[in-house]
Amino acid sequence: MSDIIQLLPDHVANQIAAGEVVQRPASVVKELLENAIDAKATHIKLIIKEAGKTLIQVIDNGSGMSVTDARLSFERHATSKIKAAEDIFQLDTKGFRGEALASIAAIAHVELKTKQEEDEVGTEINIEGSEVISQEVCVTPKGTSISVKNLFYNIPARRNFLKSNAVELRHIIDEFHRVTMAHHSIKFDMYHNGSEVFNLPITNCRQRIVNIFGGKTNEKLVPVEEETDLVTISGFIGKPEYAKRTRGEQFFFVNNRFIKSPYLNHAVNAAFEGLLKDKAHPSYFVYLTVDPKSIDINIHPTKTEIKFEDEHALYAMLRASIKHSLGQFNVAPVLDFNRDASMDTPYEYKSKTAQTPTIEVDRNFNPFKDEKVSGGSSFSGKSHTSFKKESAGDWENLYVGLESEMTTIKSTENDFSSVEFESVEVTGSLFETDEKKVGHHTTYQLRKKYIVTTIKSGMVIVNQNRAHQRILYEELLRNITMASAVSQQLLFPLVLSFTKKEIELLTTVKEQLENTGFVFGELSPGEVEIMGIPSVTSEKEVAQLLEQLISDLESEVPDSGFSQTDLLARSISKSIAVRAGVELASEQQQYMVNSLFACTEPTITPNNKPTFITLTVDEIDKKF
Ligand code: ADP
Ligand code: MG
Repeated sequence: MSDIIQLLPDHVANQIAAGEVVQRPASVVKELLENAIDAKATHIKLIIKEAGKTLIQVIDNGSGMSVTDARLSFERHATSKIKAAEDIFQLDTKGFRGEALASIAAIAHVELKTKQEEDEVGTEINIEGSEVISQEVCVTPKGTSISVKNLFYNIPARRNFLKSNAVELRHIIDEFHRVTMAHHSIKFDMYHNGSEVFNLPITNCRQRIVNIFGGKTNEKLVPVEEETDLVTISGFIGKPEYAKRTRGEQFFFVNNRFIKSPYLNHAVNAAFEGLLKDKAHPSYFVYLTVDPKSIDINIHPTKTEIKFEDEHALYAMLRASIKHSLGQFNVAPVLDFNRDASMDTPYEYKSKTAQTPTIEVDRNFNPFKDEKVSGGSSFSGKSHTSFKKESAGDWENLYVGLESEMTTIKSTENDFSSVEFESVEVTGSLFETDEKKVGHHTTYQLRKKYIVTTIKSGMVIVNQNRAHQRILYEELLRNITMASAVSQQLLFPLVLSFTKKEIELLTTVKEQLENTGFVFGELSPGEVEIMGIPSVTSEKEVAQLLEQLISDLESEVPDSGFSQTDLLARSISKSIAVRAGVELASEQQQYMVNSLFACTEPTITPNNKPTFITLTVDEIDKKF
């Protein structure tokens, strides 16, 4: 048999390598930004179109390349950063594999323009799918500009695999955050579809973080400092009370390179032990500087995982230094000498002339005339203005005709038009209540968690939280699709701070949010001004509601078949539904039961959990 092994042609090898290096537009962004940093640029500009699908361009004012280097830079394993294998152990550059440009050029249209300081003219090279289309002399400023167009144009399967623009842009911004946070002495700008997304001047570490995550971040940060033979730790942790429900702002950098480390993350959490509310995640921005010899960054092609020589010692030191900072902070507020007044929130609206609210709200209106509960929940007074009165009518009308053979809900076909509730006279005869009898049914709240009531065939036990989720969910869906929500105008606009990324996310659902009753003022970088909120929620719930929504949007499985409207309604209803532990007055209990059974799908929550169970008399009989 003849020989069958042959060397792969370069362009094929490059395409295969590209599979490892370039997963999505954000990977290209990372490689190009890192190359610019390695070239000692002090100003780096990132220009993106359509979330990187049509254009990713990085312009730097770094060293530039000679004609020969410009051409060589696209060869595989061509690098100026290491010469021998040992060099890997004393890296002070981001790159060293010499694979990125070759890989990118294999799967996109690439245009390179570069010039060194000392040269009169620069070089322009155009490459498509590893093939050099043209190479010319050009006029260009010192530094390098690389444009990557039509990513994956020659691998349709990969191109189709890309997520929506919103998702891809989110990945790009994540990558941009990581790189820019590690290099505060470089100026970075980012543009998307022609508008500026970030403009980060040269500054100190703290202010770079503040510039990225918004003005209010400054007051949340507590510095961490520690210097030992093994490691220098610096950076910031977020004060415990600002811990978030999402893992968003958690960053480790080792020698100015972003890394992921579940092990070190554990060390931070251990330091916060006992200081955080359930399910809250602390923010941290921790910079570790270690001897390059003591780490091996070569274990992962995209280099976000690294191996430390002395992991255990590092764990202990990190935990101790964070504990120390937290302790200091708890004893006395940290004096903040780095404070920059320009970072403070502009309270411009103070000087604005007051506007007459355009929506009249009858603040004395209370659907529960003799309300007993003054709970801290949305399930109080005002919020019920939105429960449709007509859909919460008399139970008998809704559930007439259920025969006693009704078994548990699971076995019936959920036909609620046929459920008949027993009359008060029969059930109430044993215990006297002073309820106004006619048209009312006795409900009973069990452990501030369940609402128990009777039907002809037995009893119904309603989970108050889940039932409320269902009710709110259907109402929100209706409001979002029909834009029919009632808004409560706030006397003073609520100003909440969010990161730019979070604001990008909110913007994608702004219109739907407005349909639920939100009225937004300005969505400025880092801040959201809210002038009106949905009538079903209360002002103090809004921050948490939006935070939860962002977190849900972030963890949304793209293309999961759920529409954004549905996600929004599910998220908000979950956030504001009355929780277990809240006492409900009997009118509220009845409202809840009525509204639940008036829903299109009363048996389950929007997340498919049962909202109530029934217990038939037969079943009860069997227990005796
Ligand atoms: P690596 O960064 O691992 O060396 P790359 O494929 O990313 O490999 O880049 C190849 C080489 O091209 C680099 O080693 C560097 O010499 C040169 N290069 C790439 N980008 C730039 C840039 N923006 N400015 C100057 N030189 C660059
Ligand atoms: Mg590189």
